[in-house]
Amino acid sequence: MSETPYPYDAPASQALFDRASVVTPGGVNSPVRAFRAVGGTPRFMVSGKGACLTDADGREYVDLVCSWGPMILGHSHPEVIAAVQEAVARGTSFGTPGEGEVALAEEIVARVAPVEQVRLVSSGTEATMSAIRLARGFTRRTKVIKFAGCYHGHVDSLLAAAGSGVATFALPDTPGVTGAQAGDTIVLPYNDLEAVQEAFHRHPGEIACVITEASPGNMGVVPPEPGFNQGLRDACHKNGALYISDEVMTGFRTSRSGWYGVDGIAPDLMTFGKVMGGGFPAAAFGGRADVMAHLAPAGPVYQAGTLSGNPVATAAGLAQLRLLDDAAYEKVDAVSAQIQSLVTEALSKEGVAHRLQSASNMFSVFFTDRQVRNYEDAKRQESFRFTAFFHSLLSNGVYLPPSSFESWFVSTAHDERAIQKIADALPAAARAAAEATA
Ligand code: PLP
Repeated sequence: MSETPYPYDAPASQALFDRASVVTPGGVNSPVRAFRAVGGTPRFMVSGKGACLTDADGREYVDLVCSWGPMILGHSHPEVIAAVQEAVARGTSFGTPGEGEVALAEEIVARVAPVEQVRLVSSGTEATMSAIRLARGFTRRTKVIKFAGCYHGHVDSLLAAAGSGVATFALPDTPGVTGAQAGDTIVLPYNDLEAVQEAFHRHPGEIACVITEASPGNMGVVPPEPGFNQGLRDACHKNGALYISDEVMTGFRTSRSGWYGVDGIAPDLMTFGKVMGGGFPAAAFGGRADVMAHLAPAGPVYQAGTLSGNPVATAAGLAQLRLLDDAAYEKVDAVSAQIQSLVTEALSKEGVAHRLQSASNMFSVFFTDRQVRNYEDAKRQESFRFTAFFHSLLSNGVYLPPSSFESWFVSTAHDERAIQKIADALPAAARAAAEATA
């Protein structure tokens, strides 16, 4: 066996990864799941219960990824599972409208005031792609402003300077995206309102919309500075463009009405995914009724999906949302605060320069002593320290996102036992981060 810098092995995961690598590019079905940024073998998980995942080698991990956000009630929540079982027993897809879709749409509209109408889709990528098409159709303009380090799914025109896996693997550009698709995207530094105003000035009457993560989590957690989202909305409205808030990550996570519930700034269009699907492929975009009225079959902008509003996915999402009451958010916020302070305490004790940044219950650690306001700042961190920190935690049963450009996620199921396991693993991880060399 070859030398590995990681003092543990995972033979069953390795065997699965070897098989996967033959039939799937890079052995994974989404790049962020690979361990390329941190090295080692990705863990193949076989089950999840509450705050924990169990891998193919039978090792249990406290999960701080939560399926990249959706599992806010933890894994295998009995009421969500029961709703799914009940829905599955009635059939898995009808290709017709169904009551579950109506109920889920009503729940979203009831929670998020700016959403007067909503269209269900199957992924966050579809949601942002469709929202942008609708904005272009509504305004009859072509250009889109996005921010470096924000990720809106793998939409061709939105992959420029994207966060998440694109940031993790430091991809400069994505082959396969044509100049025409990229050419209509204006990429600006995050938290820089002047740059936004200047772009509107340079392209009068051309900009259809500004799309932004409501509070970015895909370059690590980099919240909007006070006044930034309001400034975006104002700039859009002054210039006849739409303000699109991407709440795929923050929606129904950072409060019962997502980041909108935190900053109260009403977008023209919003996108959702992750939590609203309860662990199934369900996502949505919605907003002003006069804009949504342009969508087929009510209007001319086409958008469709064979599995949109799938009955099993909508049952899971609805069950999860209905369980997410004020008490649930209080619990997630408290768990998050507790873990944040444990992390800071451990790293400070070892003298590791770091910034722990949070947005409601989302948070991440940057290995730098400077505030991170945008993607350029995020890239300046000492990522090699994260690698050491990550592997130490992994070997002690704590599963972090395998990248320093991702938010960490917690759930209502992170109980005292789970938190204690994290607390026990942190001192060695902090030491490993302190001792790491580039
Ligand atoms: N928008 C944001 C803010 C996201 O975080 C993501 C995924 O991480 C997406 C869009 C794309 O969602 P999906 O992976 O479901 O296509």
